[in-house]
Amino acid sequence: MLSDTEIARLARPRPIEALAGSLGLSPDEFEPYGRDKAKVGLSLARQPHGRLVLVTATSGTPAGSGKTTVSVALADGLARLGQRAALALREPSLGPCFGMKGGATGGGYAQVVPSTSINLHFTGDFHAITSANNLLAALVDNARHHGAVSLKQVLWRRVLDVNDRALRQMVSGLGGPANGVPAETGFDITAASEIMAALCLADGEADLRARLDRLLLGVRADGRPYTCAELGATGALMALLVDAQKPNLVQTLEGTPAFVHGGPFANIAHGCNSLAATRAALACADWAVTEAGFGSDLGAEKFFNIKCRQAKLAPAACVLVTSLKALRWHGGVELSDAGHGNADALSQGLANLGRHLDNLFAFGQRVVVALNRFAGDEDDEIALVRGYAQEKGARFAVCEGYAKGGEGAVELAQAVMDAASSAPAAPAYSYPLDAPLEEKLGALCRRVYRGAGVELSARARADLAQLKAFGCEQLPVCVAKTPFSFSHDAKLRGAPEGFVLPIERLYANAGAGFVVAMAGSVLRMPGLPRQPQAFAIDVSGGEVSGLP
Ligand code: ADP
Ligand code: MG
Repeated sequence: MLSDTEIARLARPRPIEALAGSLGLSPDEFEPYGRDKAKVGLSLARQPHGRLVLVTATSGTPAGSGKTTVSVALADGLARLGQRAALALREPSLGPCFGMKGGATGGGYAQVVPSTSINLHFTGDFHAITSANNLLAALVDNARHHGAVSLKQVLWRRVLDVNDRALRQMVSGLGGPANGVPAETGFDITAASEIMAALCLADGEADLRARLDRLLLGVRADGRPYTCAELGATGALMALLVDAQKPNLVQTLEGTPAFVHGGPFANIAHGCNSLAATRAALACADWAVTEAGFGSDLGAEKFFNIKCRQAKLAPAACVLVTSLKALRWHGGVELSDAGHGNADALSQGLANLGRHLDNLFAFGQRVVVALNRFAGDEDDEIALVRGYAQEKGARFAVCEGYAKGGEGAVELAQAVMDAASSAPAAPAYSYPLDAPLEEKLGALCRRVYRGAGVELSARARADLAQLKAFGCEQLPVCVAKTPFSFSHDAKLRGAPEGFVLPIERLYANAGAGFVVAMAGSVLRMPGLPRQPQAFAIDVSGGEVSGLP
């Protein structure tokens, strides 16, 4: 089979005007960015009417589980069944592109194109968010330098879209009085910027402005919070984000429209593409397929408890992606061995699938398990997964989208249509918003991760007192946690229980509209592996290789 790059290079995407025209967009509703990308205006008059399908997965493996690949194939599969389908996906971050994972535009014959452009600078949204975030940092430091405000603590950090562990902790403003006020600080990756989350959850321009106004920048000498509105920076940030807040329109290899917009990670942020992209897909198609990062304990949990609750969204069906390899890994074998047939390990790993199914049922969802088929997967092992999923009360389909595109996902598309045949209801949330913050965390831990409870560090207790004083206790929580385990400990694979979840820090993200809880040792600025993907990337004759 051809490589992802070769397949993408052979694609002949429809001109963007033709794609937009097929969605009924008038010329003033979209703005072409080159031949095969466009920004879609926020003035989209039509109401969202489509049915929403959420794609999530069993617990992560270091190689990814195939959610994007299956999402793309599913949308193409629905199109093959004569349905009007569209995708709403996150934009890739440069961190993982050059780090461990590579691109994030799907794989094989289930990709969104132009994949290299989407994986690299795309329409510049990440750069705009990085610029807005860092302008704000500069304005806060400048206000301190000129004595316009006295802060005992600066809460705002800088971001960059790169995996760079050396940037995590630093002191800025060294070099004497001419060079600013010293502050202990550091960089997060752009995908974890609060501005990324605010942009993704914003319900239009006025709401984005209100969220930026609420950003907490520091603590004044008397303990009161210092906000972006008080600093007066909101207008400049809005200017930097004018285009970034508009969803990007591209297409799959088979010409299905895809709104690719916003890219918060699900382990350290809320993990969902922008609300604007989801709404655009729901307005332009009868089926909107969207992916939330990692499993039911991360992206899907945040999709329900944060995004659906805020935006009153109700998925008509959920797809739970898994693979034999992922389940064998959760059954205890090493990743290097997980590609080989091993029914014992697979049977052990089914507990992970079962826990995610139970979680999705608890959220009130109708679920289709999609087995992402890899070359060499044996039918008898697939039958084991099918039997297990059906016994648990889920539908099941094999997805061969990677090898065959939409044709390989027709069975999955049909199963999703069957699952979504009755009217969707609002998800069952894991906690009420007005519960005390510790109770919300406890509810997530017991109901979703299946641990015994949470334990706040002394530092987190101090954070809690501060965020109560700032009036942030009624916000939903966004837990930062490893994707490889239901627990905080990446080594506890399968379906662990009884663990106590340590909460190290709590951060009030008043602009994004949630409280970030750091469970265990999670890093908001990733590092690079010993052999980064960057070493496989090259250019020849203007064509980039090694990055689908
Ligand atoms: P996720 O969205 O869960 O992170 P992706 O869809 O991005 O996962 O897939 C992760 C990687 O695995 C990609 O490089 C993709 O090309 C590859 N991949 C996905 N499905 C298959 C498959 N069925 N066979 C071979 N490779 C696959
Ligand atoms: Mg993905």
